Amino acid sequence: MNLQDKFERPLRDLRISVTDRCNFRCPYCMPAEIFNERYQFLPKPHLLSFEEITRLTRIIVRLGAVKVRLTGGEPLLRRDIEKLVAMLSALEGVDDLAMTSNAFLLPEKIDALKAAGLRRLTISLDTLDDEVFRQMNGGRSGVDKVLEGIYAAEAAGFSPLKINAVVQRGVNDHTLVELARFFKERGHILRFIEYMDVGNMNDWKMEQVLPSAEIVAIINDEMPLEPVSGNYFGEVARRYRYADGGGEIGLISSVTQPFCGSCTRMRLSPEGQIFTCLFATEGVNLRDPLRDGASDEALEAIIRGAWGARIDRYSEIRSSLTPDVRARRKKVEMYHIGG
Ligand code: SAM
Ligand code: SF4
Ligand code: SF4
Repeated sequence: MNLQDKFERPLRDLRISVTDRCNFRCPYCMPAEIFNERYQFLPKPHLLSFEEITRLTRIIVRLGAVKVRLTGGEPLLRRDIEKLVAMLSALEGVDDLAMTSNAFLLPEKIDALKAAGLRRLTISLDTLDDEVFRQMNGGRSGVDKVLEGIYAAEAAGFSPLKINAVVQRGVNDHTLVELARFFKERGHILRFIEYMDVGNMNDWKMEQVLPSAEIVAIINDEMPLEPVSGNYFGEVARRYRYADGGGEIGLISSVTQPFCGSCTRMRLSPEGQIFTCLFATEGVNLRDPLRDGASDEALEAIIRGAWGARIDRYSEIRSSLTPDVRARRKKVEMYHIGG
C-alpha cells in the first residue's frame, strides 16, 4: 500500500532545494534589505552533498515521489549542479526530473544540463517590462538576460517551457497581456502565480494579491480562453487554453482557490530537512541521522513517519487567520525550500 498522509494524500512529488543562495533579490521572496552582505547563508559543510541528496531521493522515490524537481534559491548557483542532475536521472523510479530557475546563468549551463538528463525546465519571468522586472528582482537583471536563457533552453530542445510569473497588484498587473501574448507566440506555457504569504520576510498583504479569476478575465478580454478539464490529481495549476488553438496558460491560485486537498509534495531543504508544506513552521531533520550512520531503513522510517503524520492545509485555513496570527506564525522561507 502506498504511503498516505492523514488526509489520504499520497506522496508523489519531491522538490529539492539545493541552495539557499540566489543572484536575484525579488522583494516577494528575498528582499534586499534583509538579504544583504551581512546575511548569514548556510555554511558549505551544512549543505547536503550530492551523494547525500541522491541517497535520500532514492528512498523518497521508493515511497512514491516519482516526480523530482530541483529548485532553491537559485539552483544554477550550486557548483556542478549538472553532476547532481546526472546522479538523479540515473535513479530507478524517477519518471520526471525538472528544474525551476531564474535563467540568468542558463546559457552557460544548458548543454551540460541536457546531457546530464534534465527533462523539463520552468523559468521564472514576471514581466517583459524592463523597469518593472528590475523592480521585481531587486535590480539584479534585465529582461534581456532571462530571454537569453529562454532562447538557449529552446535551442537545447526544452520545449515547451513552463514560465512562472508572480502577479502583484499594482506592480506588474498592467503587463500581463503582453507577457501572455509573447509566450503564446513562442509556444510556451505561462503560469500566473498568485502572490503568496510564504515566509515572514516579504510583508505580504492580501490587497497585493490579484485573484486568478481577475487574471483570467484580463487575458480573456484580449485573447479568448476556455477552461481545460481533466487535470490529474495533484496538479496545482488550473489550465485554460486559447480559443484559437494557440496553446494554454495556467493559474496557480493558492490564495483564492487553495488546492491542499490534492497536494502531494514533499520538500527537501539544502541542509537536509524535509517539509510537508510550503508554509510549514518546522521540518524534520534527516541530515543528522544520515551523517550519524543511519541505515536506509531507519531513514525511510523517519520519512514515513513525517508523511504519515501530515495534516498540513495552510492555504485552506489562511483566510480564517487574522493578519496578526498570520504574522506571528514563523514559517520557513521560500528561498529555503523552493517554490
Ligand atoms: N530561483 C528560482 C526561480 O526564481 O525560478 C527557483 C526558486 S523560486 C523560490 C521558485 C518560484 O517561486 C519562482 O517561480 C518564484 O517566482 C516563486 N515565488 C517566490 N516567492 C513567491 C511568493 N511570495 N509568491 C508566489 N510565488 C513566489
Ligand atoms: Fe531568487 Fe527565485 Fe527567490 Fe527570486 S524567486 S529571489 S530568483 S529564489
Ligand atoms: Fe500543499 Fe501546504 Fe500549499 Fe496546502 S498550503 S497546497 S498543503 S504546500
